[in-house]
Amino acid sequence: MKPTDKIPLIGMTLSRLREVASACGMPAFSAKQMAQWLYEKRVTDIEEMTNLSKKARARLSEEYCVGRFDPKMEARSVDGTVKYLFEGVGGRDIEAVYIPDKERATLCVSSQAGCKMNCSFCMTGKQGFHGNLTSADIINQILSIPESEKLTNIVFMGMGEPMDNLDAVLGAIEVLTESWGFAWSPKRITVSSIGKIKELRTLLDTTKVHIAISVHSPFPQERLSLMPVEKVYPLKDVLALLSNYDFAHQRRLSVEYIMFRGLNDDLRHADALARLLKGLNCRVNLIRFHAIPGVDLKTTSEPAMVAFRDRLNELGITATIRTSRGEDIMAACGMLAGKAQEKN
Ligand code: SF4
Repeated sequence: MKPTDKIPLIGMTLSRLREVASACGMPAFSAKQMAQWLYEKRVTDIEEMTNLSKKARARLSEEYCVGRFDPKMEARSVDGTVKYLFEGVGGRDIEAVYIPDKERATLCVSSQAGCKMNCSFCMTGKQGFHGNLTSADIINQILSIPESEKLTNIVFMGMGEPMDNLDAVLGAIEVLTESWGFAWSPKRITVSSIGKIKELRTLLDTTKVHIAISVHSPFPQERLSLMPVEKVYPLKDVLALLSNYDFAHQRRLSVEYIMFRGLNDDLRHADALARLLKGLNCRVNLIRFHAIPGVDLKTTSEPAMVAFRDRLNELGITATIRTSRGEDIMAACGMLAGKAQEKN
């Protein structure tokens, strides 16, 4: 169960651990020792931090705990994908999805319980917003799934808009990439966003992670009908911001495009999308829509997706069709959490 009476240590950056050490009367170097126990040795109890004095461990335990907790439910797909359900915030559960694929083992993590953005095609959006996850909640998803040690990549593409919870996401990225933390290359991390401009700029300036931007239509009015956020953060402004950054070398930019039959999947859209992305170093991921209850959007046929991809490729835009995973365990984001909530 999620610990509630004490402050979790996982998710803390080294500077935060230094503050904790100082407040508990421990020497400054114990911050690095704690980081090593938390992120390298992956202990689940402060008592396992055996190079801290007994007195320090006792003092630490008065206010803090490691903060790990197991998923409360899981759903396994025949293709190896596993959806885990964790306790989130505001009484709402959140999902993390483990996706093995040959040499890669990716975890799709959530950053919020629900979401404020209300995209019309999204099950999480339909559930409303229930609260921001902490860095501890995010890091716990990574540390507490059974396949944790196998993970090669993290994508912030689960429930919530990561730029709407930037501090916690930046904290988690620092833990993942710094030498005292997981020491991962930022190239193993992708953050997906609808494009909250100010926060996206901060993410771009302070990290080197890959970026995925949700586009879904090249036409403003149509995008607005799918994503109300277009009104506040028009796609043209998001693309203008992205055009200032280098996506040819250290980091990658992906454009996410969910295809809806008869809405955004004809060649007119492919041509307009190619025009919009001209000059931007990116690749387009075409994503099959998974029907969700109460939403009158349809899945595009495979031939239409192939034709759309080929047209983009002909126009000089690299495009691929993302393989759907875990369809038998309700692959669409937010579906398992929604089901669990219905049961409750
Ligand atoms: S698609 Fe992303 S941003 Fe839109 S409602 Fe769903 S979780 Fe939020």
